[in-house]
Amino acid sequence: MKKKNIHIIGSGFSALAASCYMAKAGYNVTVLEKNDTLGGRARQYKNDGFTFDIGPSWYWMPDVFERFFADFDKKPSDYYILDKLNPGYEVYFGENDSVKISSELEEIYNLFENTEKGSGEHLKKFLDSAKSNYETAITDLVYQPGVSPLELVNTTTIARVSQFFSTIRKQVRKNIKSNKLIKILEFPVLFLGAKPSNTPAFYNFMNYADFGLGTWHPRGGMYKVIEGMVSLAESLGVTFKTKSNVEKIITDTTNTVTGLMVNGEELDTNLVLSGADYHHTETLLDKNVRQYSEKYWDKKTFAPSSLLFYVGFDKKIDKVSHHTLFFDTDFDAHAKEIYDNPKWPTDPLFYANFTSITDKTSAPEGKEAGFFLIPLAPGIEDTDILREQYFQKIIDRLEKLTNQELKSHILFKKSFCVKDFEQEYNSYKGNAYGMANTLLQTAFLRPKIKSGKVKNLYFSGQLTVPGPGVPPALISGKIASELICKNQ
Ligand SMILES: Cc1cc2nc3c(=O)[nH]c(=O)nc-3n(C[C@H](O)[C@H](O)[C@H](O)COP(=O)(O)OP(=O)(O)OC[C@H]3O[C@@H](n4cnc5c(N)ncnc54)[C@H](O)[C@@H]3O)c2cc1C
Repeated sequence: MKKKNIHIIGSGFSALAASCYMAKAGYNVTVLEKNDTLGGRARQYKNDGFTFDIGPSWYWMPDVFERFFADFDKKPSDYYILDKLNPGYEVYFGENDSVKISSELEEIYNLFENTEKGSGEHLKKFLDSAKSNYETAITDLVYQPGVSPLELVNTTTIARVSQFFSTIRKQVRKNIKSNKLIKILEFPVLFLGAKPSNTPAFYNFMNYADFGLGTWHPRGGMYKVIEGMVSLAESLGVTFKTKSNVEKIITDTTNTVTGLMVNGEELDTNLVLSGADYHHTETLLDKNVRQYSEKYWDKKTFAPSSLLFYVGFDKKIDKVSHHTLFFDTDFDAHAKEIYDNPKWPTDPLFYANFTSITDKTSAPEGKEAGFFLIPLAPGIEDTDILREQYFQKIIDRLEKLTNQELKSHILFKKSFCVKDFEQEYNSYKGNAYGMANTLLQTAFLRPKIKSGKVKNLYFSGQLTVPGPGVPPALISGKIASELICKNQ
């Protein structure tokens, strides 16, 4: 029997996952990627012996990656080597004032207890609830296609309904008073793209992902996971076409997909899955068959954009860890400047990674690869002058906080910001990691995987279910594929 064809737009994590599932289901799969390399936001930048992950760097929820590869009778270790980081990460609160988050839970309890008496016991209870929420979410909820509200209803979620209407911020602050501990506990939900005061308490499962499951690093960087998935997809027969910009999704009078315009040429297809940003994909359609208006998108809470720097240093850097968070400024003030009153942050918190501390492959011997990230409001003005101003701000802070001179040791730096997110990925307002997981943007309330207006058009990725981040992108590829197979 002749195999059915499917064309997949984009080659980010969700598209790669979907390509594997669709090939396994017996489809002829072609992936069309506009850029010249695969991986989407998780591409790689190499310069002068240094290697940087352009986007994601925190490998959390290893069980989700295991589950993905197990669906193909494989293991992550068939494609890359994982190291558990210890410390998982370090957080700076002031000059020479930092804490390291151990990979061992007992040590984290001790850190809490030594910082605030009684908080170790509170943390144990908090993590019990977080673990149980993680199990509910990961074994069931996040693998649902977001078609109906009933997907969220089971005996466990009914018992925890109050957690959907309370927030992480309230839950954390109920029993913990230390500012430092609050910042540590509120940090993981930033991966969901919204403020802790706007994120349902149920999402405390991210704290279990953090302390309970730990922070891992694929040797060679996150790009090794992309390479692993591409290799798996190729072994299943997927065809990859880079430099293939999809300019239009063509439909007939019955609003059924009939083709794609790629680099000015028409290509026949009657089944399309787009792993490109959802908003952009809809702009490839005629206006009458778009499901969501510009007003709809404008009202949504988007995850931040980011100003990023990839920096080569000519020496090893002291007093920092593989992942280092600089939370020495006011978290709430910065969040307001992202979500409530968008502007360039007055006093930004920032994140840095120095993967070459634990991974020799990312920098030449004796040198350090530095990646810096400042979260910014999506859609904000982006100029070279602003980028440079903010680079100076964070390098000054890094020097001061860690008490060392670094500027004269910079070999090169490359920046990436709002305009690049728009140009490189067709990202809505230059968002870095999609649409946030707030209460009103969870599960069936997110943009739908199946187009309600165009037959045989589907979506995956961080603007649909389940949400932002690499593990959710893998899950998104799986549930989109399952829905296609069910409907075809
Ligand atoms: C700076 C940064 C740091 C992050 N850190 C982490 C982290 O530490 N841990 C974590 O879990 N997550 C992190 N994330 C989030 C994570 O990287 C994303 O959620 C995930 O990679 C998104 O995958 P995706 O499949 O939705 O799409 P994307 O990776 O965005 O892929 C979409 C693809 O579609 C292509 N495309 C767009 N338009 C077209 C077109 N017209 N024709 C053809 N192709 C097109 C794009 O070029 C792109 O390759 C981070 C993201 C960023 C940006």
